[in-house]
Amino acid sequence: AKSQSGLSYAIYDQQKDQSGNADITLEPELWRALQKGEFVLHYQPRIDLRTGCITGAEALIRWQHPERGLIRPDDFIPACEKSGLIVPIGYWVIQQAGRDMKLIREAGLHGHIGVNLSFRQFQDTYLARTIERLIEQFDIDSSMLEFELTETALFSDEVHVKECIRALSAHGIEFSLDDFGTGYSSFSLLQKLPITKLKIDKSFIAGVPGNADDEEIVRAIVSLAHNLQKSVIAEGVETKAQLEFLIKQDCDQVQGYFFSPPVSLDLFLKMLGANEMQ
Ligand code: C2E
Ligand code: CA
Ligand code: CA
Ligand code: CA
Repeated sequence: AKSQSGLSYAIYDQQKDQSGNADITLEPELWRALQKGEFVLHYQPRIDLRTGCITGAEALIRWQHPERGLIRPDDFIPACEKSGLIVPIGYWVIQQAGRDMKLIREAGLHGHIGVNLSFRQFQDTYLARTIERLIEQFDIDSSMLEFELTETALFSDEVHVKECIRALSAHGIEFSLDDFGTGYSSFSLLQKLPITKLKIDKSFIAGVPGNADDEEIVRAIVSLAHNLQKSVIAEGVETKAQLEFLIKQDCDQVQGYFFSPPVSLDLFLKMLGANEMQ
């Protein structure tokens, strides 16, 4: 796929000739990037629709490449998942988000910071124990930590995933279901697991208002969430019309370019300063 940076194209074309597989040759570069500290987290604010204030954020990884500049996750996360490198990189993300949370809290925000957890990270038998160790070692405020899971993660190894989620939620960590509506969720699993939020996938938000199917899907997800005592976040909110539609549907929170793209930690802290003064 052609990305904004054009990078995935360049790497793919160049390396296909040598090995026939783009990911194999990207792997040593990603290891090096992890060791050299080239990954950074950006934060996208989440807005509470009742107060209009920032109520949390999602942490999103970027690769600050020395020559190519800032690389988006879609250009390297798939390779990390394929090679298993997502496991150590995922731990780096948790550790870094934990550090950043201290500054975020000092800037006045006590809400949740969403960290993406790939289905592949659950293939690590020690996932829950390692996260518990990180919390301890880096003094992470687990009450601010939220993991965003996709439906694929829930179905990869149901028993192990359930155990992990239960163990971690005992520490006050919250779980949300990402890209909701695009996978295969079973309602029984939704009720059995301590998942507190559903995130409506941006592909549905792109169609509202106007597309009758998307409007109906968004309405259905909001009412499903509320009937199960869960809150609901819409992602990919880009326009005022989308925002107004979501307010009318009683959606709880929104995330999207209409308010802010993902920004550096510094900028996010400045936004929180302004949030406080309101
Ligand atoms: P995601 O978890 O669904 O994250 C939302 C994506 O939508 C982000 O892309 C975000 O920048 C983008 N976005 C936010 N607002 C808007 C909007 O108004 N319109 C549109 N069109 N897009 C919007 P990003 O940062 O490029 O991340 C892409 C994906 O990479 C994420 O999708 C997530 O699956 C993955 N990812 C990012 N960081 C991590 C990480 O730390 N660990 C893992 N495992 N995956 C990550
Ligand atoms: Ca996410
Ligand atoms: Ca998402
Ligand atoms: Ca996604």
